[in-house]
Amino acid sequence: MIDLHLHTTASDGRSTPEQLVRRLAAEGIRTFALTDHDTTAGIAAATAAAAPLGLRVIPGIEVTSVHQGIDLHLLGYFFDPDHVELIDFLVAQREDRRRRVREMIDRLASLGIVLNVQSIMKKASQMTGKALGRPVIARLLVAKGHARDIADAFDRFLATGRPAFVARRGATPADVIALIGRAGGLVSFAHPGKLGQDDLIPVLAAAGLGAIEVFHPDHNDATTARYAAMARALGLATSGGSDYHGPRSGRAEALGRVNLPPEAFEAFEQLARRAASIRRSAGGAA
Ligand code: AMP
Ligand code: ZN
Ligand code: FE
Ligand code: FE
Repeated sequence: MIDLHLHTTASDGRSTPEQLVRRLAAEGIRTFALTDHDTTAGIAAATAAAAPLGLRVIPGIEVTSVHQGIDLHLLGYFFDPDHVELIDFLVAQREDRRRRVREMIDRLASLGIVLNVQSIMKKASQMTGKALGRPVIARLLVAKGHARDIADAFDRFLATGRPAFVARRGATPADVIALIGRAGGLVSFAHPGKLGQDDLIPVLAAAGLGAIEVFHPDHNDATTARYAAMARALGLATSGGSDYHGPRSGRAEALGRVNLPPEAFEAFEQLARRAASIRRSAGGAA
């Protein structure tokens, strides 16, 4: 089985890379990509844990881009994790994530909800390259009794337009597609069914988008079929995975259930190879 959408403690997942790899092996997943938000910090540990088990690791990431004020998640694959420009970009993304978390905590304070900033920022320093996000605030709001659960914390405070929401600053989808391309990879449009921005897909296809994430736990059969048809029509590959965030997280049951068919993976990998070789010859590099 193949799963190209997985989160770890490098961003807002609950499993360490090592714990996740053990789970993947137990589920019969043989090829996978970590797609942590704006960080590749988990990949080295996952690769080390995967090697003795014979699992194949594909470099992956889930970058948050901003389109007309809306967050748009883009999945990058097959890129060089050591690409300097990509590394610098991700450092800046994570800095903005910390800025935003701090500002959201300030907003909450002005609403009379005082959270311990130190405990959140300490989490950021537990792992080099760890990406912070709203879930760390949501978990603290639940722990301190200000929300029933994570979803409630988002509904009341953290979701777009809610009282503690702070807008993100960031790269456009086209910027991210170009950057992942320069790093040797391809981008897949993440969980389009969650977003309602289908009109954007042909525009991004023209800008070099490589794939659509067709297989995702938030897609039903009709949604899956619709995006598969759209990918075919636009000449895009398809990607997919469980978007697993650890045990007892939302849609945890999708692990081992929502996956990418081997033929689809092969087509995606071939497209990535072709794109990289066209780029190399166009760039005149050896
Ligand atoms: P951020 O990275 O700060 O934009 O936070 C986004 C993360 O929060 C996503 O990975 C989701 O898993 C989680 N999230 C977003 N909206 C909700 C929601 N309404 N309920 C629960 N989790 C959410
Ligand atoms: Zn996440
Ligand atoms: Fe996402
Ligand atoms: Fe995700």
